[in-house]
Amino acid sequence: MIRPEHIQELAATIQLDVVAHRRHLHMHPELSFHEYKTAAYVSEFLKKTGISCSGGIAGTGVVGIIEGTNPGKKVVALRADMDALPIHELGSAPYKSQNPGVMHACGHDAHTASLLGAATILNRLRDQFEGTVKLIFQPAEEKLPGGASMMIQEGVLKNPTPDCIFGQHVMPHIPAGKVGFRSGTYMASTDELYLKVIGKGGHGAMPHMNIDPVLISSHLIIALQQVVSRNANPTVPSVLSFGKVIADGATNVIPDYVLIEGTFRTLSESWRSSAHDRMTTLAHQLVESMGGRLEFEIRKGYPVLVNDSELTGKARTRAVEYLGPENVTDLDIWMAAEDFAYYTHETKACFYRLGTRNESKGITSSVHTPTFDIEEDALQIGCGLMAWLTICELTE
Ligand code: MN
Repeated sequence: MIRPEHIQELAATIQLDVVAHRRHLHMHPELSFHEYKTAAYVSEFLKKTGISCSGGIAGTGVVGIIEGTNPGKKVVALRADMDALPIHELGSAPYKSQNPGVMHACGHDAHTASLLGAATILNRLRDQFEGTVKLIFQPAEEKLPGGASMMIQEGVLKNPTPDCIFGQHVMPHIPAGKVGFRSGTYMASTDELYLKVIGKGGHGAMPHMNIDPVLISSHLIIALQQVVSRNANPTVPSVLSFGKVIADGATNVIPDYVLIEGTFRTLSESWRSSAHDRMTTLAHQLVESMGGRLEFEIRKGYPVLVNDSELTGKARTRAVEYLGPENVTDLDIWMAAEDFAYYTHETKACFYRLGTRNESKGITSSVHTPTFDIEEDALQIGCGLMAWLTICELTE
């Protein structure tokens, strides 16, 4: 039987390699759906390690397979995302991005490096477990429609079909050394709203001759909040935010139309679809009652992320065995979205958080900021815990 200390020892042995992977990827970030060099780096390492893999899935996705004894017994999938963001990195780290305007500001370099490390550990132990480990290196988490849905469409969850899947994500609010879990609904669905309120422009001194889309839009933004405050069940979190409103007139010019863009997020798929209907009806009726015309497009984004309670409960207990109870925390819901959610609707899934904060080194910046960084000591847990959770699933 494999003990946590055994995995911890292996994780310590490869810690420097995992940091090297992370630094290489951090220095050479690539945008969503363009992870060509990243995918080549991953494939090359897997092949060198003796792990069979195939690439070109959903563009740049890579899948590796580690077979234990009796490979058909059970299949555990592990997923890492590989893409970076269109952010110009600030700071002076020696491993700073060499690709101006592109940065691993969401820790996907750490996820990929950790999975390469977990793969190394699991490959060394392959004669000590039954079943198969499927390594999923996924493109484009940051850009709709998301690499996860495309990889699923291209059959990543078939041949062999995983019995469960794990994903981990860095969390700069949690100190390095700790991890966090949450059973059930954890992250939000996200939909983009695009509205064009069409009126009739003209001189600002003669409103009676025009149909003012600015005033209509003002009412519309307030009215739509009623969907959240009056129609949503108060026990189901919902967020409606408009971050872009363009009325391109002047002090004395009423424009012909106003453009409004926003995001709608919630934690229930059934409420999500009723909210779309409610917003559409209300918006059209309101705009038309004021004499205008509305074009309203809701672009559906990622679904709600639901962690399987049984799998997540087991994983939490095993994390306590691996790290001690003081290093395992419970997570609050998080209204950001994550395309790992697609896997959670297909198979038993657990998406957990890896603490990467280190205040004494000033590593506190939030994800998606130009000063984001991680405490690299956390990578030892990043690779080791993932290997431990996999071993536990395959030997239970
Ligand atoms: Mn991310």
